[in-house]
Amino acid sequence: MVDADYLVVGAGATGMAFTDALIDHADVRVALVDRRHGVGGHWLEAYPFVRLHQASAFYGVASTLLGGGRLQRHGPEAGLQERATRSEICAYYESMLADRMLESGRVEFFAGCEYVGDRTFVSRISGEWFAVPERCRIVDAHYLAPAIPAETPPPFGVADDARVIPVNDLARLEEAPSEFVVVGSGKTATDACVWLLARGVEPDAICWVRPRDPWMLNRAVVQPDPVVFLGMVADTMQAAEASASLADLFLRLEDAGVMLRIDQLVVPTMAKTPTLAAWELEALRTIGRVERHGHIVRVDRGRVVFAAGSIAIADDAIVVHCAAEGLQYRPLVPIWGPEAITLQPIRAGFPCFGAALAGYVEATRDDDQEKNRLCPPSPYPDSMAAWARMTVMGARGAMSFGSEPDIAAWASGVAINPARIPPELAGSAELGDTLDRLQAHLQPGLARLAELSATDPA
Ligand SMILES: Cc1cc2nc3c(=O)[nH]c(=O)nc-3n(C[C@H](O)[C@H](O)[C@H](O)COP(=O)(O)OP(=O)(O)OC[C@H]3O[C@@H](n4cnc5c(N)ncnc54)[C@H](O)[C@@H]3O)c2cc1C
Repeated sequence: MVDADYLVVGAGATGMAFTDALIDHADVRVALVDRRHGVGGHWLEAYPFVRLHQASAFYGVASTLLGGGRLQRHGPEAGLQERATRSEICAYYESMLADRMLESGRVEFFAGCEYVGDRTFVSRISGEWFAVPERCRIVDAHYLAPAIPAETPPPFGVADDARVIPVNDLARLEEAPSEFVVVGSGKTATDACVWLLARGVEPDAICWVRPRDPWMLNRAVVQPDPVVFLGMVADTMQAAEASASLADLFLRLEDAGVMLRIDQLVVPTMAKTPTLAAWELEALRTIGRVERHGHIVRVDRGRVVFAAGSIAIADDAIVVHCAAEGLQYRPLVPIWGPEAITLQPIRAGFPCFGAALAGYVEATRDDDQEKNRLCPPSPYPDSMAAWARMTVMGARGAMSFGSEPDIAAWASGVAINPARIPPELAGSAELGDTLDRLQAHLQPGLARLAELSATDPA
């Protein structure tokens, strides 16, 4: 029997952020459990050249800034906030575990352990069983855990003599093929293309199988500076107010410098909206061979087969699997439920902030109904309509938790809250103008976004 008030299942970004905020504000004992060998979640198995797609300052736990708030000093993103690499993220979480959690004497970490339900977990190494007492609350910190290519087989058939690799293995190639076939439409596929181009692969040697075209956020406007970030929100609301349709909304956001698309002849339908930098966009646009035939059915040597037809690829082509589902789209559930606290984003996007906020609210309030009223969950987006829905729900969530003075004060003090206004910037004229613009467009913009999202229930 493990003596704990909370059993947090999952030591990825959400489990770590929840635990960090909880022990900062309540005198409780936490058992943190993960089936992986350490903390950090999916980053432990991510491809070696991955980085956060957005500023380090927006990621991690509330108590400790990831990346020290540094700006990039060299390279094509000089002037933008730094973005941590896989090893920096993993090192950060290791240090959070050792220096903050274990050091506090109130957190115990059980690595390599599977939660099997019924307040019980079992070591995958020793086979030992553990249980937590009846009073212990279960925290589901894996409800929306992403599926990644390293752990998900390709969602298509692969002939014995075809060369298909997960994106992780790109960095381990021993010999260059004459062609790379990158499969996927999301952040991982764009990362793979940009990485290949940056290593000197000719654009003509890349074939990009892109079932859907993605809308992506312009990284330059998703920065930890309230004039920039809240300015982007004001632009979004202003664009929404005038939009005739979802497609029109995204085109207006493109004009406003908020959204980016790779091919200006195609109106994208996918809107998971990771951020992208201008230099990456430029690089991606050099790839001329983009195959849009829906999902792959099978890869043979020299051929990729779709439901309707096939395309020829080089005989020695390497097909790069970037087609795992990534973000999960499970039904929204109240965060505080009778069985578990189920961590989900609250403000639109920003899962670390949502989990930390849930930890703070759990530590400072008793009534679950009240906690759920203050912190309604918001979904991850996949389509344009879902993005509009997320924006509305996230904004309503922010108004709800922001109406409580102590939560507002806590949220304005943590860097992982993208909308915070640091006290030293509060009185500036530029910020005043931004806030005026936001104030003028927020309500009509949200009302229009709600209407637009209802036009497509998908
Ligand atoms: C390549 C990539 C880049 C991304 N970049 C960003 C970014 O820049 N910014 C951003 O905000 N988001 C980003 N995301 C989104 C991502 O969803 C979040 O970053 C976040 O890490 C997800 O954390 P999580 O705790 O939900 O999931 P995970 O990190 O997957 O952690 C969940 C953990 O739960 C454990 N677990 C599951 N079931 C059990 C069980 N039964 N017993 C024991 N343990 C269990 C798993 O082993 C896992 O370690 C990115 C996602 C990907 C895939």
